[in-house]
Amino acid sequence: MMYLYLPVADTKCYRLDDTMLFDTHAHYDSRAFASDRDQLLASLPANGVALALNPGCELESSREAVEYARRFDHIYAAVGFHPSDIEKMDEAALCQLEELAREPKVKAIGEIGLDYYWEDYADRRTQNEGLDRQMELARKLNLPVIFHDREAHADSMAAVRRHPEVTGVFHCYSGSVEQALELADRGWMISFTGALTFPNAKKPVEVAAALPIECLMIETDAPYMIPYPRTPEDKKFRRNSSLRVYQVAARLAEIKGLSLEEVARITTENGKRFFRIP
Ligand SMILES: [Zn+2]
Repeated sequence: MMYLYLPVADTKCYRLDDTMLFDTHAHYDSRAFASDRDQLLASLPANGVALALNPGCELESSREAVEYARRFDHIYAAVGFHPSDIEKMDEAALCQLEELAREPKVKAIGEIGLDYYWEDYADRRTQNEGLDRQMELARKLNLPVIFHDREAHADSMAAVRRHPEVTGVFHCYSGSVEQALELADRGWMISFTGALTFPNAKKPVEVAAALPIECLMIETDAPYMIPYPRTPEDKKFRRNSSLRVYQVAARLAEIKGLSLEEVARITTENGKRFFRIP
């Protein structure tokens, strides 16, 4: 039995028996990890993170994700074109994406989706067409998708309904309880980041309370979305990593009235089942 004492800020300690957390969404291809990426990835299992999944956002980061998955047993990958990079997805790029997706440790097509928040992203029609192509690829390869929905709830749900044979996870969930219940009904999962721990978090907390825990997963979306409580180092380094996913688990445990160990065990089982990780 292994005991890990995980400090939250300076005040609270959580203990985890055995390594068991699954960070289902972290971007280790980010420049934020340039100086210590390998060390950090290697250190995860000894720090309570048994598994992490790295989604790609275009070809280069998808290739990086596959590379980490090849090198580290506990790292898995997803490949896809994020709405921010959807204009790079021509026919040749889509073929290369399909080739990458056939790698054994690639467990999903992602991160794909719709983002109507940023004005310099591709127009809505281009985003939706790119999304449809990738949903179609997921169906063809029998893989789930990792879906990014920012300020695009109605069109995201329309895409889900257009592709009834595809399931996936809405990552960093920001929609309503009603939308989450429809997704769960269709076999989709909901995943929470550090946004669940933010002092002003309201909607994600309602969704976490309303949904059966079997439909929920946790993630960091590192290097973004540093959870609360934050430390003085967070202000300095402004970088999140899988080492912080226990804070999302701890908040979910509070909301669900479960122990941290139970939430860690259940969300890890959910992630392994969903991504078909042995
Ligand atoms: Zn992401």
